[in-house]
Amino acid sequence: MSSSQQPFRLAVIGSGPAGVYAAETLLRSKQVKNGDLEVSIDLFDRMPTPFGLIRYGVAPDHPRIKGIITALHRILGRGDIRFLGDIEFGTDLTAEELRTHYDAVIFATGALQDADLDIPGIELAGSHGAADFVAWYDGNPDYPRTWELDAESVAVIGNGNVALDVSRVLSKSADELLRTEIPSNVYEGLQAANTTDVHIFGRRGPAQTKFSPLEARELAHPRGLQVVMDPRDLEQITEAEWETIKADKRTDQVVRNFSGWLEEQQRREAAGEEPTDKHGGPVSRRLHMHFWHRPVEVLGEDGRVTGMRFERTRLDAEGRVEGTGEFVDYELGAVYRAVGYHGSELPGIPYDAERGVIHNVAGRVTDTEGTLVPGLYANGWIKRGPVGLIGATKSDAIETIASLLEDIESGTLTPAPERDEDAILHLLEDKGVPFTTWDGWMALDEHEKALGAAAVDADDEPRARVKVVEREEMVRVAREGMSTPANA
Ligand SMILES: Cc1cc2nc3c(=O)[nH]c(=O)nc-3n(C[C@H](O)[C@H](O)[C@H](O)COP(=O)(O)OP(=O)(O)OC[C@H]3O[C@@H](n4cnc5c(N)ncnc54)[C@H](O)[C@@H]3O)c2cc1C
Repeated sequence: MSSSQQPFRLAVIGSGPAGVYAAETLLRSKQVKNGDLEVSIDLFDRMPTPFGLIRYGVAPDHPRIKGIITALHRILGRGDIRFLGDIEFGTDLTAEELRTHYDAVIFATGALQDADLDIPGIELAGSHGAADFVAWYDGNPDYPRTWELDAESVAVIGNGNVALDVSRVLSKSADELLRTEIPSNVYEGLQAANTTDVHIFGRRGPAQTKFSPLEARELAHPRGLQVVMDPRDLEQITEAEWETIKADKRTDQVVRNFSGWLEEQQRREAAGEEPTDKHGGPVSRRLHMHFWHRPVEVLGEDGRVTGMRFERTRLDAEGRVEGTGEFVDYELGAVYRAVGYHGSELPGIPYDAERGVIHNVAGRVTDTEGTLVPGLYANGWIKRGPVGLIGATKSDAIETIASLLEDIESGTLTPAPERDEDAILHLLEDKGVPFTTWDGWMALDEHEKALGAAAVDADDEPRARVKVVEREEMVRVAREGMSTPANA
């Protein structure tokens, strides 16, 4: 255990859920609770704001999930974790500097980039990564303020929840989204959009999506939206597969949702009724669900997307997807690939480029040969890859912190030479790296809420928050509200 006079100094890089839960799990450990271990934790982020993808990834029309910020805010507001924002590991702080000031470092830097989709034409203008679009509509300050939304027909490639988020945002009216915290530039961009038809394509069948039932159901909720199903997609499901579907509650709920939409569509067609939205209102946009479609090529002319070619697929006897040799082309003005995220390499930290993760065993960083790198740990998406919900970063943290506590107990960690908590602030000052603090975030939080209270949504109701998106403005507001003398 660390000496009773000297708190164990921990740096956590990344203030998304994985970073916050790692710090919180250590603080709640029995070693800390019963006074055997005293800890001092600094939580760094390259953003001037905390909360990672909850702020910059989770869809704005998912207020319940965004609300997890309230729980994380409570943890960070207690004062036993020091937040230091607008500091990028690798640029503003090096691994060497961290080693000088901290006994251990946990990397919880998540994943922000789109995974690749290696097909011809993917580089054409109008072909986008979902992660970039998400960063735009969620007001990530490091992305452009404008987004091209002039295409009438767009494709979203992928059958996971991010594909659903992107499809929903593309198919909702801007006024419906004005109830949320979307920044003003996003509202204006969406209001000017020409989108009338959103097509979601999955390589496999309705039973093989990764959709959660709630999110799948929600697809049909936007006002003015009609969901269009292709009967072939459900007809292709075999008797044996229906049995498997029924045996799994999530899959059953998701597939029943699709078959319900199809039945209603066929009933209306048979009765010669006009389609309506879910609320009985007129249709202004359509969301087309396409399964069994393997992307083959993004088609283009003069460097721009004009469509996409797919091959229809089916499952083979082993349940693997195989091409049928039937090719289908769709006319499209834009393509969004939502085929997964990919974690980025951190300077000097062993990185598995294929999986986009830091090499680690149970959260302990190892080099490429599997040898432990003492004092370095990983948590969250950068530890195990960009899959799983926020809750999964909590169980990640339990494992990583158990490894850290074992190492503290066994005395395998080399104590940092510099033990003064303020020394890191002086170092940043000396390097000319301005930073933001918890007080700064509180000031920005209040500022965004005040902007919301002063604005109204389409029903003339005050908005709960309007996000600030310019980094300089975020930092200015945050630093005006800061009381840290070292950063004055
Ligand atoms: C579009 C989208 C929608 C989602 N919707 C949901 C949902 O509805 N419900 C749900 O439960 N989960 C959802 N998730 C999943 C959820 O966001 C993740 O499970 C979770 O955010 C992963 O946590 P993390 O802390 O590992 O990474 P992140 O949340 O990405 O946090 C990483 C943090 O590290 C910081 N960082 C990165 N590099 C550096 C550096 N060099 N120096 C300093 N700081 C750095 C980043 O700024 C960020 O703040 C969604 C994910 C995406 C992409």
